[in-house]
Amino acid sequence: ILRYDSVEISFNGKPVVTDISFSLKNGEILGLVGESGSGKSTLMKAAMGLLGTTGMVTRGDIFYREQNILDISEKEKRKIRGAQIGMIFQDAGASLCPIRTIGEQIYESMRAHKKVTRAEAKEHALDLFEKMNFKDGKRVWDSYPFELSGGMNQRAGIAIAMLMNPPILLADEPTSALDVSVQKQVLSEMKHLRELFGTAIMIVTHDIGVVRAMADKVLVLKDGRKVEYGRAEDVLNHPQDAYTQRLLSAVP
Ligand code: ATP
Ligand code: MG
Repeated sequence: ILRYDSVEISFNGKPVVTDISFSLKNGEILGLVGESGSGKSTLMKAAMGLLGTTGMVTRGDIFYREQNILDISEKEKRKIRGAQIGMIFQDAGASLCPIRTIGEQIYESMRAHKKVTRAEAKEHALDLFEKMNFKDGKRVWDSYPFELSGGMNQRAGIAIAMLMNPPILLADEPTSALDVSVQKQVLSEMKHLRELFGTAIMIVTHDIGVVRAMADKVLVLKDGRKVEYGRAEDVLNHPQDAYTQRLLSAVP
């Protein structure tokens, strides 16, 4: 459903990600790992057309279904964002607006894609919260982000990303700002979403444990290059590359 074909991404003409190819199939979970600065977020943002003014894909293609998303207009990109590809960021602050309630933000996000009333948006959101086992949905709807815990905000962010039931969810370190028990909860909710909706998920993480628990496939990046790519079992149990071996041996 999402395919990168020999992708190179540059900032101000300087390549930071080189020759990356991989594919994400319906309902699959791909773990993206690598050191800080290796290009994980950049790779992910490229699928959303979110490289800013200085960044661009300088080689290769990115396909969403059969459509090359590098060729389409900004208007078409906006339609894909949210409706076809949802994204959550490392820090809920990057996904949520601090001065509007979660409910207002959900209503706005839905309205960008679909004609809905506030009541319909609320009904849809509370239903989604319930499916995500997200307790206190009613309170969350009326809350400002600062009134909620980090974990709740991050889950609200996931709910917003999932509002239009996109077939793809991109998650950039969705749990690294959370404490361990909340991390587990959020991750199991994401897995649950995959089971409910068949969502394909690409997840960036520093945590090999997360990969072990969730991913079907793994892509290991080093300095913007692919050092390993394959089925999670194979990569974790029989890493071929010395870098991956070191990465794996660094965790208890
Ligand atoms: P982390 O684990 O710290 O989040 P990452 O693997 O996500 O790291 P990226 O954020 O993708 O790494 O950054 C990859 C490289 O691209 C870095 O060298 C970074 O400095 C550079 N880079 C990222 N965004 C920009 C930008 N907007 N302008 C210029 N360079 C950038
Ligand atoms: Mg990053």
